[in-house]
Amino acid sequence: MIGKLFIVATPIGNLNDITYRAIETLKNVDIVLAEDTRHSKKLFAHFEISTPLKAFHEHNEREKTESIISELNSGISLALISDAGTPLISDPGYFLVSQAKKEGIEVVPIPGPSAIITALSASGLASNSFSFFGFLPSKKIARIKYLQNKIALNETIIFYESPKRILTTLTDMLEVFGNERKVCLAKELTKSFETIRTDIIENVIEYLAADLAHQKGEFVILISSADKIDLVDAQNQLGKILPILCAEMGASKAAKLAAKITGIDKKHCYNKAIEL
Ligand code: SAM
Repeated sequence: MIGKLFIVATPIGNLNDITYRAIETLKNVDIVLAEDTRHSKKLFAHFEISTPLKAFHEHNEREKTESIISELNSGISLALISDAGTPLISDPGYFLVSQAKKEGIEVVPIPGPSAIITALSASGLASNSFSFFGFLPSKKIARIKYLQNKIALNETIIFYESPKRILTTLTDMLEVFGNERKVCLAKELTKSFETIRTDIIENVIEYLAADLAHQKGEFVILISSADKIDLVDAQNQLGKILPILCAEMGASKAAKLAAKITGIDKKHCYNKAIEL
């Protein structure tokens, strides 16, 4: 008998969010592959799970996959968990799952929490169509470029962000998307300091800047869908009027007028004006 590979979601904060099926699976498999075994030991102690844990993380995924596949082929059943939420979602496991499927091994998902879906469900932003892009590039220039490529997406866009960069990333988002878009900041989901704010980007930045404690914790950022036609039109309009305005007046005044005409954020117009 070939063993099965179970992909088990675990809580993203509140331990009560674990499912009965997840506990049962983690108790019944032979080995649990965990991103950080010390972290998972706490979860196991809480739910009295005594299954042996083996380290499986982004640095050893490739090197471990072959021996894991051999174990599965020899009849051992395995579960994969990550530190929080659903494995493979900005977490290790893709290589292992793809190889296991190639070998004809049964991969069984045990669904549960994931920060993306949790945030989307309470954001108040359109949930019929959305894209998730994981973590943004950490370098500013790359991040701005990456965001610019998302500007015309006509669906809710979702990112993960670290507390270190939350304020600068939102500032970049204001520059790229302008202040017309709604943003949802979903912080510390399912935990004591859970905060879900859906507002224009400027107000969310104000909230973050008001208190350093507001910048601590784990974050999901969601941005409302572009009205594709309008936004592209507005950008085209900006491209046409800004050089004309700049020829007649200073960059600051030109940006202010251009923002009024196009509905695009003043800072973004100013940055474009000084590039001319
Ligand atoms: N696999 C996880 C999932 O299914 O959501 C995500 C893992 S990823 C390495 C960790 C990131 O997810 C965090 O930096 C944060 O952006 C987001 N995240 C995880 N837990 C969260 C929570 N409780 N509240 C808000 N964001 C969270």
